[in-house]
Amino acid sequence: MSISERLIQDIVLEFPNFRIVDKCHDGLSRAIDRALKIVTFGGQDGYLTVYHTVIGDTLYVPASWSGASDVERAIVLRHERVHLRQRRRYGLGLMAFLYLIPFFPVGLAYGRARIEWEAYAETLLATAELCGLAAARSPELRARIVRRFTGPDYGWMWPFGRQVMRWYDEALDRIANELEASRAAPHGEHAA
Ligand SMILES: [Zn+2]
Repeated sequence: MSISERLIQDIVLEFPNFRIVDKCHDGLSRAIDRALKIVTFGGQDGYLTVYHTVIGDTLYVPASWSGASDVERAIVLRHERVHLRQRRRYGLGLMAFLYLIPFFPVGLAYGRARIEWEAYAETLLATAELCGLAAARSPELRARIVRRFTGPDYGWMWPFGRQVMRWYDEALDRIANELEASRAAPHGEHAA
């Protein structure tokens, strides 16, 4: 079984109603896409083609999902599992409030930025575990993720690039330490 298939099995054990829906053939996703294009003045135009979205127990996947590799899918699933757990932790109402209401005014959505940051820290950890620490440290990945916060992708949710880079560097340091610690630990340490 592939890494992503095993991960989907784990997620279903944790969230029995979990399912994956193709955005392109989904009316709700098309409506959200139209709304996002309006509120971001056309800046967010990849909702159907690039972005993965969790709503309730459903992961809505873009057109790129079918061509994604096993590892790419696994990294996305690890990120989205964080959102499923946040929803369980906060409840759907508070989660939607934190995520959507602070959308206005566009440009200062601290609640959404923190929710997304927790999930992107998992993206970095999954990248380090599945592709190696060098891949997690890639400047291209860093630029792409920082832009998610400071650019139109999520409505300029947290335009303070320096602060996002600090979160990023702290997460990378933590991940490097964790990986080093787990490598240094003798095998069977957790067997008991
Ligand atoms: Zn996310």
